[in-house]
Amino acid sequence: MATLSNDMKSADLNLAQFIIQVESLNANIDVALLRKAYEYSDRAHAGQTRSSGEPFIDHCRVVALILAELHMDTATVAAGLLHDVVEDTEFTLENVRNEFGDEVAELVDGVTKIGAVRFTSFEERQVEYFRKMLLSMAKDIRVILIKLADRVHNMRTLEHLPQDKRKRIAKETRDVYAPLAHRLGINKAKVELEDLSLKHLEPERYQDLVDRVKDKKEEREGYIKEVVRPIKEALAEVGIIATVYGRAKHLDSINRKIVLRKVPFEQIFDLLAIRVIVNNERECYHTMGIIHAMWKHVDGRFHDYIANPKPNGYRSLHTTVFGPRNKMVEIQIRTHQMHQYAENGIASHWLYKEGHRQMDRDDRQMIWLRDVLEWQKDMTNPSEFMEYLKMDLYSDDIFVYTPNGQLIHLPAGATPLDFAFQVHTEVGLHCAGSKINDRLQPLSTRLRSGDTVEIITNPNRTPSHDWLKLVKTSSARSRIRRWLKQAGFEQSVALGREILARRLKTVRQKVPKDDVLQGFAERLDRKSAEDLLAAIGNGSLNVGSLVSLLLPEEEQEPGLVTRVIDRIRGSKGVRVQGLDNMMFRFAGCCQPVPGEDITGFITRGRGVTIHQADCALAIDLANKSPERKIAVSWDVARHQSFIVQLEMVVEDRKGMLRDITQAIADANTNVRAAEINTNDTTGEGRFVVEVSNLSHLNRIIDKVKKVRGVIRVHRSRRYDQKD
Ligand code: MN
Repeated sequence: MATLSNDMKSADLNLAQFIIQVESLNANIDVALLRKAYEYSDRAHAGQTRSSGEPFIDHCRVVALILAELHMDTATVAAGLLHDVVEDTEFTLENVRNEFGDEVAELVDGVTKIGAVRFTSFEERQVEYFRKMLLSMAKDIRVILIKLADRVHNMRTLEHLPQDKRKRIAKETRDVYAPLAHRLGINKAKVELEDLSLKHLEPERYQDLVDRVKDKKEEREGYIKEVVRPIKEALAEVGIIATVYGRAKHLDSINRKIVLRKVPFEQIFDLLAIRVIVNNERECYHTMGIIHAMWKHVDGRFHDYIANPKPNGYRSLHTTVFGPRNKMVEIQIRTHQMHQYAENGIASHWLYKEGHRQMDRDDRQMIWLRDVLEWQKDMTNPSEFMEYLKMDLYSDDIFVYTPNGQLIHLPAGATPLDFAFQVHTEVGLHCAGSKINDRLQPLSTRLRSGDTVEIITNPNRTPSHDWLKLVKTSSARSRIRRWLKQAGFEQSVALGREILARRLKTVRQKVPKDDVLQGFAERLDRKSAEDLLAAIGNGSLNVGSLVSLLLPEEEQEPGLVTRVIDRIRGSKGVRVQGLDNMMFRFAGCCQPVPGEDITGFITRGRGVTIHQADCALAIDLANKSPERKIAVSWDVARHQSFIVQLEMVVEDRKGMLRDITQAIADANTNVRAAEINTNDTTGEGRFVVEVSNLSHLNRIIDKVKKVRGVIRVHRSRRYDQKD
């Protein structure tokens, strides 16, 4: 009993303390609602503990506190308290909705849905994670902030998990969550997540860095004082009230410098950064001037991120000076608002845009998000998606100039083609070449900060698939992809129209208007006239299928070969069910021969047409007019021969026609007509041959196939001869 009441007391104490903390962070927060959410969550998670042995509510409380520290609104902090209720307890989303309304419920639902992704491969899982996060972000960015807060606390308590789980979660944090926090400008979370990932992924290295940084603590703090004092004094003299302080850079960034730049720890000069926080932009530049007058600055280390914010929205002045005792030190100068933004990023919208929950359409993060959502639709390969996403998330920035001095931000590794798209989509789409610092350079050149880039455009130049390999930015990538998709479709439509026009020309008909074609499109399972033409153009639909629908059968004037065939054939060889002396002809589309199943169709005025039973046109006719179908069977006289047309693709070489004719003759048959039309290196041959039945035909095809240079042989399935 005693223990229980103690627990209750400590629970009450925790709640009271939580409320005080939250209120001190945000005076406008709805305390009553948070109290209710806290108690609700506590009840829902009753009896559950974390791996650390602590009651589960502790996790919910810290997540909510992290959100409150980001100055998030009441709904988000409440959702932070409730974020694991639906996933981990008996309570449902509907319960939460009834108790706390739609806004909180939607946030909890968003977090739950992201968490529900389970995949076998780590990579697939990561990609799906990212996709889900991006999509939920597009709906309500606050979902991601809750997810980030959740991850921060899970990382803080990671040592309670088994080794393999620890590594997996730390890797995921380093690859997915930290970069996302960076991209959203939430530096506070990014730094903590990076350091904690390093701690679990490379424990020895981490400990080494901790020790070294600690060793230098006294020296560092002494030096910070040497820098801070003169700055404060100089600013006070001109009446600028500033917050000036110094701090060690975070461990992961030090580690990266050692690994990437291969600089030994002892030689990293900017282990610490001095921050000067002032009241307005004008004071930022004034302060910069004063500092540059005190100490000589290092060339090339001055960045004006106020005039040219980083892609994630970060603003500050950066400079490196030779400070006291001629040591190099980095100084960052910014306003309080810029500082808020630098630490909290996208979250600071809730601080400065009270009541405006909708993000501005042109907020940098939202533009980025839209671009990524656009191109991720086209990515089917998880590793490709991750590769580009990481490039987008991690990359440092470079700054290059247009010929008239406009500054353009790009990720490291960007090419002139990225630059072109950044300047304007039209410039990108017609980019024909580039000059870097007045010299012609290939479009694949990696740009470097400070380059002046000039794009040469040509209205006739358009994107190709190769361009996708040249660009590094997701925005350029998505624009190229969109263009290629559109252009490919248009080309297919034009080609399909041309094919149809040629075919209809043989019967002196014109291509019907699109609204007429529309009706036929539906019958052929295509959505629109354009889709129908594109299908013909790209070869997924045979033009014959459309022609047979467009023209009543009697108007489908047989082509030359068909007429020859009809004449040669006469009208013997088939018995039409129940009817003697019935006039019939063999369909030009499939040219049936004895040995194949056949079917007949009664035509108006021309007797019966005989098709192969599985001929596409016959099946189509049977569906449309089953009443015209009639049973037929072979009734072959001795020595009767049938005519088929063979089509072949052959190499263009001397003697080809002779060799094929010889091969056919070897199979004991006659060639009734033959031609080979060549274009460049290959030719198309058409041979009309007499056969007695199917096996005879197959023998002939086998012989022809063996002729040197014959690439393909098949029976004509076309409705008639070309032209
Ligand atoms: Mn959680």
